[in-house]
Amino acid sequence: MSRAAENTGFICGHCGRQVSPQSGGSYRNHCPFCLHSRHVDLTPGDRGADCGAVMAPIGVDHSGKKGFILIHRCSACGSVDRNRLAPDDDMDAVIALQRPR
Ligand SMILES: [Zn+2]
Ligand SMILES: [Zn+2]
Repeated sequence: MSRAAENTGFICGHCGRQVSPQSGGSYRNHCPFCLHSRHVDLTPGDRGADCGAVMAPIGVDHSGKKGFILIHRCSACGSVDRNRLAPDDDMDAVIALQRPR
């Protein structure tokens, strides 16, 4: 079975919204509305992880040229991942993550 990278839409495991595939050659790996992700990739786009649990956004980082980086933690296995923001991510949700809770 091929594990080729694919750029597919999905239904968000957290808010249940339909998320469309991202344009512009990036892999959509999180929901632009609530920023939750799903633990499906070992490296972005490979869909190589067997976990499949919802990954919650736990913070946001800012690194020079790359811009904002979202930090996700898997609700099942605790694995932590860093992902670039998509251009259509909800910036209010991103900014809310930066505030200490
Ligand atoms: Zn969502
Ligand atoms: Zn996991």
